[in-house]
Amino acid sequence: METMSSTPQSQQWFDRAVQVSPGGVNSPVRAFRAVGGTPRFMTSAQGAWLHDADGTRYLDLVGSWGPMLLGHAHPEVIAAVTEAASRGTSFGTPSPPEVELAEEIVARTPVDLVRMVTSGTEATMSAIRLARGFTGRTRVVKFAGCYHGHVDSLLAEAGSGVVTLGLPGSPGIPAHVTADTIVLPYNDRDAVTAAFAEHGDEIACVITEAAAGNMGVVSPLPGFNQFLSETCAAHGALLVSDEVMTGFRVTRSGHWGLDGAQEGWRPDLLTFGKVMGGGFPAAAFGGRADVMALLAPSGPVYQAGTLAGNPVASTAGLTTLRLADDAAYARLDDWSAQARALVSSALDDAGVPHVVQNVGSMFSVVWGLTEPVHDFAGVQRQETHRYTAFFHAMLDAGVYLPPSAYESWFVSAAHDDEALTRMAEALPAAARAAAA
Ligand code: PLP
Repeated sequence: METMSSTPQSQQWFDRAVQVSPGGVNSPVRAFRAVGGTPRFMTSAQGAWLHDADGTRYLDLVGSWGPMLLGHAHPEVIAAVTEAASRGTSFGTPSPPEVELAEEIVARTPVDLVRMVTSGTEATMSAIRLARGFTGRTRVVKFAGCYHGHVDSLLAEAGSGVVTLGLPGSPGIPAHVTADTIVLPYNDRDAVTAAFAEHGDEIACVITEAAAGNMGVVSPLPGFNQFLSETCAAHGALLVSDEVMTGFRVTRSGHWGLDGAQEGWRPDLLTFGKVMGGGFPAAAFGGRADVMALLAPSGPVYQAGTLAGNPVASTAGLTTLRLADDAAYARLDDWSAQARALVSSALDDAGVPHVVQNVGSMFSVVWGLTEPVHDFAGVQRQETHRYTAFFHAMLDAGVYLPPSAYESWFVSAAHDDEALTRMAEALPAAARAAAA
C-alpha cells in the first residue's frame, strides 16, 4: 500500500540506501516491510515531533523505539552532551560520567553493581554469560514473543522484528547454539514448573522481558514475575529481568517499580538500555553483588567494550535520568491514558474490534479481537491487515507510528495538548480505514 503523502526526498535517499546497505536500513523494522511504502528519512526532531527529508512534520509515537523519554533534542540534554563532547568524545579510561550514571541506576533499581555496555543486545548476551558462569549450568529459559536483542542463543521465537519479517528464527545460528534454549509460552506458570521439573538442575537462568513489549504490549499476569523469581531461587537458577524497554520508562525504577518493589523481591540480574542512553548507544546490566563480582576484572567471566561507559553517551543518559522526575512520569502516564482513550473511542466509533493493552505509558492495539491477550499465540490471532491500513492513514495525517503491529507505541514527556489534538484529528479516518 502506497501512501498519499509526498515522499520524493525519502524515496531518493532510500534508493541510494539500498545500493549500499542490505534492504536500505540498519535495523530491519525500519524498512516498512510489514506495512509497505517508503520509509521516511528523518532529518531533525524536536520534542514530540519528527521532520522528514520532504519537510513533513509528524507526531512521533516511536520515540526512537523507546529512548526518547523526554522528547527529542531536550535543550538541557543537548547542552550537556555538547559540553561533554567538547572535552573529548572517548578516552578509553574510566571517566566521571559513567560512575555518576551507574550511581543513578543503582539508586533507582534493585541492582548492587552495574556494568555499562553499548546496546541492549550486549547487555542480555553478557547477562546470560554471567548467569552461566555463576551457576556452572548451560540451559536458558526464554518466553515466546520476548525479544532480547539479536543474541544467537536468544533469537528463538523472538517476537516483533523476527515475526514482522515472517522469519522462523534466523539462518546462521547453528542448531547447537539454540539447543540449550528452552522456549515457553509467556505467562504460563505450568510450563515453567514443568520445565524446571525436567531440567531444574541444568537451568542457568530464566530471561524474561519485565513486561513484554516486543509482541505488542503484553503485561505479566499478576504475580508472574514473582513466581519466576521464586521458582528460579528454589532451583538455584537466576532470574534475568530484561528492562531494556521498560527500564526508566514505565516508572522511575522501571517495571520492577510496579511489581518487585511492591511485592518485596528482586531479580538476580537486570538489563537496561534505551532510556538510560538518552538517545546515544548506551546500555547496561547489573544485579546481585555476589553474581556481578564474577565479572572481569574482579572475577573470571570475561566481558569488555571499547566504547562502554562512553563519556558523551553517559552524560546524555545521566542528564535524561536526572530530568526524569516524578512530574515527568506523571505527564507520560497522563498523556498515554488520554491517547489510549482517543484510540479506543475512534475504533469503537468505526466498529473495529480491538483491545488497547498497556504497561504504564507503553501501549499497543490488538486488532480484531475483543479480549486481552496474554501470550504470543494470542497476539498472533490478531488481524494485522487492519493495522496496515490504520498505520498509513495515520502517517498521511502526520502521525508516525511503529511500522509493525507487534511493537509498542512510545510517548514522551514532551507530548502535549497539540500532540493530542493531532491524534484526535487523525484518528477517525484511520479508524475507518482499519474497519475496511
Ligand atoms: N531487550 C529488549 C526488551 C528490547 O526491546 C531490545 C530492543 O528493542 C533489546 C533487548 C535489544 O536492544 P538493542 O536494540 O539496543 O540491542
